[in-house]
Amino acid sequence: MSFPRLIINLEKIFQNAYTIAKICHEKHIELVAVTKLILGNPEIARILKEAGVDKIGDSRLKNIEKMKKNGVPGPFQLLRIPMLSELEKAVALVDEILVSQPEIARAVDTIAEKYDKNIQIIYMIDVGDLREGVWYEEAALEIQRVDSMLKKATLRGIGTNLGCFGGVIPSEENTKILAQIKNELENMLNKKLVISGGNTASLRLLENNITFEGDTQFRIGEAIILGTDATNHRNIPYLSQDTVILEAEVIEVDYKPSVPVGEIGHDAMGRIPHFEDKGWRKRIILAIGEQDIDPSGLKPFDKKLNILHASSDHTLIDITDSETSYNIGDIVKFRLSYGCALRAFTSPYVGKIFT
Ligand SMILES: *Cc1c(COP(=O)(O)O)cnc(C)c1O
Repeated sequence: MSFPRLIINLEKIFQNAYTIAKICHEKHIELVAVTKLILGNPEIARILKEAGVDKIGDSRLKNIEKMKKNGVPGPFQLLRIPMLSELEKAVALVDEILVSQPEIARAVDTIAEKYDKNIQIIYMIDVGDLREGVWYEEAALEIQRVDSMLKKATLRGIGTNLGCFGGVIPSEENTKILAQIKNELENMLNKKLVISGGNTASLRLLENNITFEGDTQFRIGEAIILGTDATNHRNIPYLSQDTVILEAEVIEVDYKPSVPVGEIGHDAMGRIPHFEDKGWRKRIILAIGEQDIDPSGLKPFDKKLNILHASSDHTLIDITDSETSYNIGDIVKFRLSYGCALRAFTSPYVGKIFT
């Protein structure tokens, strides 16, 4: 056995995907399962499809390429608005692509024509979160112009992303803005459009019975893989949070003062650390660090553990308040925040074990 490692419970991930697919399908919503957190792992992706999700979405072409090579059934959606330099490959690999500027839509169309490829475009609209998308006040005219330019590619719908840059929470208000633009565009273009309405944070809308009229799509990653919703800062009550567990090994157990001795500069990550003087404390060091995790996103099973700090390869934990005695060689278990899980999945030093 080698540590640190992630214990990935495929059954629980299946269950989460199944539950969300059921909720979406009851409301006639197409579900895109997002696989970027798991680096497009083909084994997990296959399970998501078995659980009934309609499409697989990823932000990285390398992940989509890996899934296709390993026989994961599509269709596939490219989530991140594409780089011009990857566009040929993108059009070849995916069935649906999110774009946010006329120049890219036109380039997608040109490549689609060249290869006679049917590709669907979702045009992104920024309703306030300030990440990708045409600003909502200019959206209808710009998208009408784009639609009239397309020869081979199809404008399938409009989309938005919330909660990612500005942390803006999906709401009845921003939902209405999108619905209004859709209606306006459907009248202008005389065709039906899909609304690609959001990510994990948007599940709240469904719970409150706020939905879009007409064809809708949700793109959901975090809720399926972790059972959490970072934007709304919650565990989703009807999903499992025991999908992914991190295990790390204790390499030192010792008593140390809670305040360092000497003049304090910046730490290994360029931060100025602050210390509260609690006297001498019992602490452990884990063989895992910033290269593998985000210490602020570690949620220990032992609630009495207090994560102090991490440098590249070491994580320091105050165990004074814990009723458990920790020894060198012991394994400590955590659930992970989205950001922390992203790092752990990406780190080649963290093993991935499927159960
Ligand atoms: C990552 C991503 C998603 C999925 O977000 P989750 O919060 O993980 O559900 C959806 N849409 C886009 C454009 C993304 O980049």
